[in-house]
Amino acid sequence: MRPIQARISIGAMAHNLRVARSHAGGARIFAVVKANAYGHGLSRARRALAAADGFAVLTLEEAANLRLMGVDQPIVLLEGLFGADEIATCSELDLWPVLHHAAQLDWLQQQPPARPIQVFLKFDSGMHRLGFPLVEHAAIVARTKSLAGVAGITLMTHFAQADEPAGVDWQLQPFLHELAGHDLPWSSANSAALLRYPETRGTWVRPGLMLYGASPFADVTAAELGLRPAMTLQSEVIGVQRLQAGEGVGYGQLFRADRPMRVGIVACGYADGYPRHALTGTPVLVDGRASRTLGRVSMDMLCVDLSDCPAAGVGSPVVLWGEGLPVDTVASAAGTSSYELLCALAARVPVAETN
Ligand SMILES: *Cc1c(COP(=O)(O)O)cnc(C)c1O
Repeated sequence: MRPIQARISIGAMAHNLRVARSHAGGARIFAVVKANAYGHGLSRARRALAAADGFAVLTLEEAANLRLMGVDQPIVLLEGLFGADEIATCSELDLWPVLHHAAQLDWLQQQPPARPIQVFLKFDSGMHRLGFPLVEHAAIVARTKSLAGVAGITLMTHFAQADEPAGVDWQLQPFLHELAGHDLPWSSANSAALLRYPETRGTWVRPGLMLYGASPFADVTAAELGLRPAMTLQSEVIGVQRLQAGEGVGYGQLFRADRPMRVGIVACGYADGYPRHALTGTPVLVDGRASRTLGRVSMDMLCVDLSDCPAAGVGSPVVLWGEGLPVDTVASAAGTSSYELLCALAARVPVAETN
């Protein structure tokens, strides 16, 4: 069997949820499990995160799957409704859609569900992605309250720079100032805001990334935040090459040896979710020792430097990210984010669930 494997830890996710809880004060937690729980598997995440107060997903299909799995907590649809046809299912399955444009209010007005639904009303406080303009809040809240199909409203916004020095204040202050008079429950915090800005907690917090053991911050490690990596992507050396000075390895011969050296060929490539744009020098662990990738990542293989791993050979274990090598470190070396690496884990990689 091809030796690549993703080990996914239930205990790490459960632990990370407790860390989120320790930052949440009295706020309730929507565990964000969109994108197949950031690559960790929806069913696995829902078991690991069963102590969450609710779950947040993108699509009706994910939400319906959670209900089939026995989830009885609230489920929020982060971009829903996508059409009027989804209203009935929201009502039947008690799903809470985020309403962020006027047509969604029209749909609810024209086709009120038999059983009124809870909704999130999303306001744009500066990110300029989804949401009603903050200046229209009075009319939007009044209209939503008037809808027979709406049982309750939670006000919501999303931060553009909670993980950066610019922070949340420039969005949070206008949001709270404008919406204070409505005296409704509210939700604003993603992982970064929850970890750094207690004033963003509100009624519901919405952590995603931190539950999987990665850090949203460039300057603070996941370990420093008390988080444990939930996913370890590992494989093995399946071939060894000896390069002479001047010889190259891989497509394009992008890496050339400047001295004789041993190179390990690892069964992991971009079709497994390893970033193709990772350059020579991206960190890996070979036999538990720090090493680096060499040259271009292929579809099914990549090359690693065995210079400092004299005992390594065919069969030596390789960690691409996870335990012993934070996914954040690999992501920054590869010019991307841990979000992208975790979500990109390919379906062809076998998963082993661990405690
Ligand atoms: C994905 C998402 C989150 C979770 O963000 P993290 O940075 O992963 O914690 C929270 N809120 C919304 C609206 C999202 O789309």
